[in-house]
Amino acid sequence: MVTKSGHSRHQNKPAESRSSRPAILSTMSKIRPPATADLVVHPDWIVPVVPREKVLTDHSIVVSDGRISGFFEREIALTIDSADHCHLTGQALLPGFINAHGHSAMSLFRGFADDYPLMDWLNEHIWPAEASLVSEEFVRDGTNLALIDLLLGGTTTFSDQYFFPDITAQCIDTVGLRAQLVFPVISVETAWARSSEECLQKGLALRDNLRGHPRIDVGFGAHSTYSVDKDALKNIATLAHELDAIVQIHLHETQGEVEASLEQCGDRPIDILAQVGMLGPKTQCVHMTALSRGDFALLKETNSHVVHCPRSNMKIASGICPTQRLLDHGINVALGTDGAASNNRLNMLAELQSAALVAKLESAQATALPAMAALELATINGAQALGMERAIGSLEIGKDADMIAIDLREPHTQPLNNVISQLVYSTAGHEVTHSWVQGRPLVKDREVIGLDVANVVERAKHWSTQLASLG
Ligand SMILES: [Zn+2]
Repeated sequence: MVTKSGHSRHQNKPAESRSSRPAILSTMSKIRPPATADLVVHPDWIVPVVPREKVLTDHSIVVSDGRISGFFEREIALTIDSADHCHLTGQALLPGFINAHGHSAMSLFRGFADDYPLMDWLNEHIWPAEASLVSEEFVRDGTNLALIDLLLGGTTTFSDQYFFPDITAQCIDTVGLRAQLVFPVISVETAWARSSEECLQKGLALRDNLRGHPRIDVGFGAHSTYSVDKDALKNIATLAHELDAIVQIHLHETQGEVEASLEQCGDRPIDILAQVGMLGPKTQCVHMTALSRGDFALLKETNSHVVHCPRSNMKIASGICPTQRLLDHGINVALGTDGAASNNRLNMLAELQSAALVAKLESAQATALPAMAALELATINGAQALGMERAIGSLEIGKDADMIAIDLREPHTQPLNNVISQLVYSTAGHEVTHSWVQGRPLVKDREVIGLDVANVVERAKHWSTQLASLG
């Protein structure tokens, strides 16, 4: 068993308290502008997320060596010598969104098995289709299709849990996003691995191969307590602890999952994780719709993270994650789209809008998850869940230049009474015009750089034919 640690430069750093972060505005005016820069971006508004609620106008952001080197008044920034002055009239600049849970290649199942409850959807439709079709080629084509949707929806970092993660890594490496790959561990035979042991062997080899990669971190993707046996869960927990690695698991997706677990072994899924030592500050619990009072204390005590996937939960009628109550207990909540087979988009603007709305419905409180909090779920909270908060999640001096621009000139986002409100409640999901990761452009003027979109769509049509032929 591999026990070597493969740490990226962002791992093993203690989580920072958000309130202890320096406010960029207090230091901004004291810094002299650089003579030269790689990139200077001139939006109408900068929403740095930290400090919260802050919106800068008439300011520009300066990038050198892939990092944010300063914020300057527009007039001053225009004097900086740079080959790349990017003018974004009527647009807001934000940290890139962090999509904390998904299965990219499942984009090829978009619209294939809609309107079924979770276990029927998995057992009768998704798992049989995966058994017939999933291959390296399927994962490459499905991941590329997903990357287009992710990028045009503002995602610059995503978490992916799917078979053949080495192929997903190749796609990411080519296109330039940042990712957390949580290789799947499941106790049944799949096209990728015959057993949970083989999943671990292959996943850990990938983790070793990608050690030191500047944009890809590899962790464990334990599918669920109903699909991974307890010994394997214990093994994952031990290995993850030894390697200081991320573990992500679908947990309490439905009340039915909790009841089935109680019936089968007498324990609720979250208690199984506590027994095997899997809860902790590197653990991401995805969904969490069926919670008892004690679960809040357990999540808080162990500093475990919750990943909320509101659109997938609504579509499968799984239940509702009590987002505001989790936040009130001091539990970090990030946001994910889940796969396109159960969403059916990978659009973080749509997701954060849904998160804000469903939180109010769940709590019967209109004050639940206000716009700024929803934006934090998709940015700084996601960075904390992924252990990347020192590099990304907000626009701050010294952080990596992972940024997106959102066009607010269309009638449905006018008038600009409140920029943050318009971003969360009024966007339709197609307004992302530019994105950068470590200062490298990935979307420019709404065009994805690095992928032949027409060819990716053709490949998707090919797989649709294959899927139809399954009968
Ligand atoms: Zn999922």
